[in-house]
Amino acid sequence: MKKNFDAPPKDLKFINDLRDSSLDICPMCGAPRTSSLDHYLSKEYYPEYTVFSKNLVPACKCNSSKGKKVTGSIVALERILHPYYDDCLNDRLLSCLIEQAPALPVVSITIQTLPTDQPIDESIKFHVENIVKPSGLVKWLDTLWTRVWNSPSSVINTMPKGDVVTEAELRDAVIDQLDRVGRRYGSANNWESVFLHGVINSPGCIEWISSRHNYLVNNPLANDL
Ligand SMILES: [Zn+2]
Repeated sequence: MKKNFDAPPKDLKFINDLRDSSLDICPMCGAPRTSSLDHYLSKEYYPEYTVFSKNLVPACKCNSSKGKKVTGSIVALERILHPYYDDCLNDRLLSCLIEQAPALPVVSITIQTLPTDQPIDESIKFHVENIVKPSGLVKWLDTLWTRVWNSPSSVINTMPKGDVVTEAELRDAVIDQLDRVGRRYGSANNWESVFLHGVINSPGCIEWISSRHNYLVNNPLANDL
């Protein structure tokens, strides 16, 4: 089985097709990359599913870093979500909270799982703790925040570049970009959407970004000092 996965014969050609399909985002964690074709159920524990198409998921390193674990041991419904079968992955599950720490431009960003009426709420929480959080999302959001602080309009492309902006205009621009990014990736749980949703929902964040943008518009050399 393993040999067939590593070097698929002709009738298992779909394996290489899946392997070559480079997705824009990882269906497991929402990262803007995929790097390998992974097994949802590990080859070691479930060798019979080594070349089963529904067990093969293009993913970034988040899936391999989960190891062989697909279920929890505390609550019965705790398990890793499956991108082919768990429709809840199409819903917006994630946001973030951006807080001053202790003062701007330094912030602390924490991942938030949005409330859901899905019956598999425990699975969603388990997936976020074991796949999404260890994936490097917080570090990525920190880096994006730095880019926003240096030049808000270079990240939030929907806002005016050279003109001052009101908080209401900025909020509309972020909502617009959130919608566009979701449609571009075909998923609401890509990392950029997590950030944009967090900007809208973090108290004060729209105000900080609009003030920063307006300051840069009025002081165009500020970043060069
Ligand atoms: Zn991933």
